[in-house]
Amino acid sequence: MEEKNQLLTVCRACDALQDVSHITKGNIASCICCGVRLFKHSKSPIEFPLAILLACAIFFVIANIYPVMQLNIAGIDRETTLIETTHILFIEGSPILATIVGLSSVVFPGFCVFSLLYIFLSIYFNKKWHLTRALLIWVSRLLPWVMMDVYLLAILVAIVKLVSLANVVLGIGFSALVGFVIFYAIAMSSIEMHMLWARLDKSNNGEQYE
Ligand SMILES: [Zn+2]
Repeated sequence: MEEKNQLLTVCRACDALQDVSHITKGNIASCICCGVRLFKHSKSPIEFPLAILLACAIFFVIANIYPVMQLNIAGIDRETTLIETTHILFIEGSPILATIVGLSSVVFPGFCVFSLLYIFLSIYFNKKWHLTRALLIWVSRLLPWVMMDVYLLAILVAIVKLVSLANVVLGIGFSALVGFVIFYAIAMSSIEMHMLWARLDKSNNGEQYE
């Protein structure tokens, strides 16, 4: 029997295994058993996420270099960046909280965004870079732990509380953080992990990505 070039995927809702190799660009694949949306085969599955990830990386760097907010209490000015927030929690005696905040708001987001950039660039330029597969495995594991949106919400709550106690000035880092959260959400909604795996497998078999 002739072997077809299959692209198999598992439904997250009902675990049904199905061949989605016939889904053409611009169409959405739905589960044949339960109807849940499996993925969208985007018309530009590499170029669009790559552009958004580049923007995410720039926003991430700015958010970590420039202060998120500046506080003025009784004439004393204090500026805080994302990384300094973790440091302050640590020296104030909350090492566990500092570790959780540092990992979920700085380490994991940075790792995932720059790793995805690496993966997308290797696919875009059709290069077999060594770390691509390993990074894709780790990114798949760590993505649920990226909580920049929760962090942004916590900052907004803190600002509302602090406004009555101190003069609060939002910094460039805050604007960059908002930009990062928005562009990160767009990037995640446009990236289909199983399509990345399919493209890497094609590359391993000596075929072109596209
Ligand atoms: Zn299903």
